Amino acid sequence: MPVLQPLTQWFCDSCKASIEQPEDGCLEYLQDARTDRVSDFRIIHCRPSCHSNEESIENKDKIVNDIHLDHVITYGFFGHMLNWLDLSETKKSEERVVITEFTEIMRRLYLPYWEEARQYWQQSFKDGYHDKCSFEEDDLLRIISEYEQSGQETST
Ligand SMILES: [Zn+2]
Repeated sequence: MPVLQPLTQWFCDSCKASIEQPEDGCLEYLQDARTDRVSDFRIIHCRPSCHSNEESIENKDKIVNDIHLDHVITYGFFGHMLNWLDLSETKKSEERVVITEFTEIMRRLYLPYWEEARQYWQQSFKDGYHDKCSFEEDDLLRIISEYEQSGQETST
């Protein structure tokens, strides 16, 4: 049984605890002050203890931005995210996003059960459960139940 509700609960990248509802979380990212490039996406609790420390990254010309998750999970913001990708591809805004980071945050935000299944993705690939391109809900749920069970077995 998954522990997270798909697309409304996540694991915080800062404190690792679960974010119980979209209103409690933020999508955080860094923006390069010179090039506008967006990177270092994180899903975190919207509280100072989980946010990046502005002072520690200021030296690298990066600005910390965040958007509440209840806004991020709307169709409108999905369109906005695709626009970032489009700008990057057409080089209108020189490589707006780091593509590998971007695809991962898109999966975490918009793909049911990915947030939980991603923890077991590499191991379940090695074990032959998927070919790295199976993102169906049933496949991800199978991975979650398989590896949660094996975790329980080793702990008892
Ligand atoms: Zn947190």
